[in-house]
Amino acid sequence: MEIEYVDGFPQPYAQMDAAPYWQACARGELTYQHCTGCGAVVWPARSFCPECDGEALEWRRSSGKGRIYSHSTVGRGPTPAWQAIAPYTVGFVVLEEGYHLFTQIEGKPEDMRIGRPVEVAFIKRGRQTLPVFRCAE
Ligand SMILES: [Zn+2]
Repeated sequence: MEIEYVDGFPQPYAQMDAAPYWQACARGELTYQHCTGCGAVVWPARSFCPECDGEALEWRRSSGKGRIYSHSTVGRGPTPAWQAIAPYTVGFVVLEEGYHLFTQIEGKPEDMRIGRPVEVAFIKRGRQTLPVFRCAE
């Protein structure tokens, strides 16, 4: 699959299972799947539960609150669009609901530390609304 770029940024492709996730992002809501059969948090989006193989998955709204699980600051972006916003930090955030999201974490590189509380915010990149995280005070 060829990656599509808008304004220099790669656009996520909305595979069928993840379409509701991207639609929620456009509304400013962070969502995840929950298995009503066994109670598992399912992430990334799937058509069945990896814990019980059940298909009774529902979308739930995340609190958007979590903690930095890991992080890395990029000093030189891979494309001119990313170079223009460098340095920037990416990493895994573990949400209160228990799933990990790979994301951009906004803030000064020196303020990043594992375990720091963060909250979701939404930004526009190209025509896609993306979740990013900001350090919570
Ligand atoms: Zn399940």
